[in-house]
Amino acid sequence: MAKASEINTQNQSGIGEPYFCEECKRNHTKGKIYKEHLNFAKVEPKDDGVLNEEVIDDEIEVSDLVSEDDSTSVEEEASDEGLDEKIEVDDEIEEDDFDEELENYDDDANACVEAVKKLPGVGEATLKKLIKAGFNSLESIAYTPPTIIQKESGLGDKTTAKLIKASMDKLDIGFKSAEDVWEYRKNISRITTSSQELDNLFHGGIETGCVVEFFGEFRTGKTQLAHQLCVNVQLPKEDGGLNGCALYIDTEGTFRPERIIQMAEGHDLDHKKVLKNIVFGRAYNSDHQIMLIKEAASLIKEKNIKLIIVDSLIGHFRSEYVGRGTLANRQQTINVHLHDLLRLTDIFPDLCVIVTNQVQSKPDVFYGNPTVAAGGNIVAHGSTIRVYLRKGKGEQRVAKMIDAPHLPEGEAVFSITENGITD
Ligand code: ADP
Ligand code: MG
Repeated sequence: MAKASEINTQNQSGIGEPYFCEECKRNHTKGKIYKEHLNFAKVEPKDDGVLNEEVIDDEIEVSDLVSEDDSTSVEEEASDEGLDEKIEVDDEIEEDDFDEELENYDDDANACVEAVKKLPGVGEATLKKLIKAGFNSLESIAYTPPTIIQKESGLGDKTTAKLIKASMDKLDIGFKSAEDVWEYRKNISRITTSSQELDNLFHGGIETGCVVEFFGEFRTGKTQLAHQLCVNVQLPKEDGGLNGCALYIDTEGTFRPERIIQMAEGHDLDHKKVLKNIVFGRAYNSDHQIMLIKEAASLIKEKNIKLIIVDSLIGHFRSEYVGRGTLANRQQTINVHLHDLLRLTDIFPDLCVIVTNQVQSKPDVFYGNPTVAAGGNIVAHGSTIRVYLRKGKGEQRVAKMIDAPHLPEGEAVFSITENGITD
């Protein structure tokens, strides 16, 4: 589908020619759409009084509207004068919300915002845009691709590039020695699964700073494990927790506080407190799921979140993108979503992300395991550690390490009981 901003040479009513826009007092090109007024700029109506249909039918993305123009956009012009950009009207309306948001920040989060504020040329307007789009730390700016920052904050490309460069410099991102990496990895935090065997499979519990995928057929314990980890992340460090809170994105409607209560009691924890420390979000469709994860970025510091669960990762995608023709699009969207999750672990190295995944049958396999994780290579390459779950006898389940950068293949048997996961 053509972008709205590319249609300007396709009709004969002078489209493509420059003219002076009274509204924003600068030159525009006829037929292009400008973010400032989100209107079709002087496209003559056809005989039937309807605007050029092609233009109307096209999806209009704000990112398309901003600076694909070869003439500099307002934002770029402003940015040249020192990064601080034109405040849009809706920003002013939501000013109270923004101030309120800042008030919710604790000292830690405020220190991050202060660091962003100190980047060269960042004034109030730019800061506001960044914060509103969830870029409230140097890390979040340094690790996010420029196109995403531009799209979500509305900042221009030059501004974004400058901000990323400055953040990277401040964070001293570059090469480091393997010894430094080892020093870091030696002290990596882990969450216990409540099963010694399963912890051993992970060499001491599920590590932070990566995306772990549990995949398997239904009733193999994926959701139970997810619940258990939401409880265990709250334990003190000496008991195998991270002293933190959990964020649970439920796409299948299978989150059960009852189970949390039972599991909390299994650890002699006050279940009221445990429930309070789990932020829950029900995702009703794949777009909503993607949006919730984007919003999560700003919650992590504020709510001391150390674990994010997405149960399940691609259920919605599978049901919404039906048919072979949609496959490429689906995979691309899942890929972007997974990278949003991975990026969170870059920005917050003491965060653990767990995704669950269904399996799909491979009807052409007659020997061996006829099921593979759904989502294909995209999910396989996106997750750092992958574990396959299958049923054993009775309440027993078997976890098999399928892929991990540093762990050998192996299996662990655990059980699901009323009080949660055990050996
Ligand atoms: P999935 O892999 O489909 O997410 P679940 O994690 O929901 O599967 O596992 C469901 C299984 O967990 C049930 O079949 C049952 O064996 C076990 N289970 C669920 N609730 C309890 C409970 N209160 N007591 C004991 N076992 C339970
Ligand atoms: Mg489940």
